[in-house]
Amino acid sequence: MAAEPLLETRAVSKRFGGVQAVSEVSLKLAPGELRCIIGPNGAGKSTLFKLLLGSIAPDEGTIHFQGRDVTRLQPHERAHLGIGVKFQNLAVYNALTVRHNLLLPLRHQFGSREVEDEIARLLARLNLVGTEDRLVGSLAHGQKQWLAIGMALAMRPKLLLLDEPTAGMGTEESSATGALIQAVTAEGVGAIVVEHDMAFVRELKAPVTVLHYGRVFAEGSFAAIEAHEEVRRIYLGAARSERPRRLRNRQP
Ligand code: ADP
Ligand code: MG
Repeated sequence: MAAEPLLETRAVSKRFGGVQAVSEVSLKLAPGELRCIIGPNGAGKSTLFKLLLGSIAPDEGTIHFQGRDVTRLQPHERAHLGIGVKFQNLAVYNALTVRHNLLLPLRHQFGSREVEDEIARLLARLNLVGTEDRLVGSLAHGQKQWLAIGMALAMRPKLLLLDEPTAGMGTEESSATGALIQAVTAEGVGAIVVEHDMAFVRELKAPVTVLHYGRVFAEGSFAAIEAHEEVRRIYLGAARSERPRRLRNRQP
């Protein structure tokens, strides 16, 4: 018998007025699996992300988490079950220290000695050793992003949802973020990354789901997606009217 998926969406759809933002999207994610969701602007990525975290409910279709139907559960109820989220807009407190930020999610779960171990573990994982007493407002942008991921990890999620985790990052910071996400999934946490940055998606070496007009347009390895004529066409079409994408032709 195949292992139960960590997450499964069955034909979820969401309409806003006349716009079918997400259309019959069916996805499965196993524990420890990493998946990237890409697509041109307006493809439905953010809407799908919101459906997964629970800030909006689908018009049709269901979302199952560890076999349980969570379609109608609120974000905090899903968080309680083990769905952690890092939003694009960072939920970190600039006026508090790194340590204090991490304490906020940790103090409810651990006694005082365990909290110290957890903080040490997270700082090491997040490349933030030595920053614990600094105010978050003084950190580099990438460091803040890692802390935001750490705030989600502090809840020990089974599934981590990441919306554009490398937004505003340089190449080195992006690579470090990729390594962080890979380390987290290697420990058995499933992760879904919604991302624009193709160089980063390539580095993650994870299966890719391409959305287009709300539908699953293509699925496969990055190499397969990159070589996919139709995917290239929708991205090039988008690049003309929006902003350029770094989807390079690597075919001979
Ligand atoms: P992406 O994140 O891939 O750029 P979105 O999920 O934000 O795409 O949007 C998908 C479509 O749904 C777009 O046409 C967008 O204009 C529309 N849309 C998204 N959110 C809303 C909303 N709250 N109200 C009306 N239309 C929306
Ligand atoms: Mg979006």
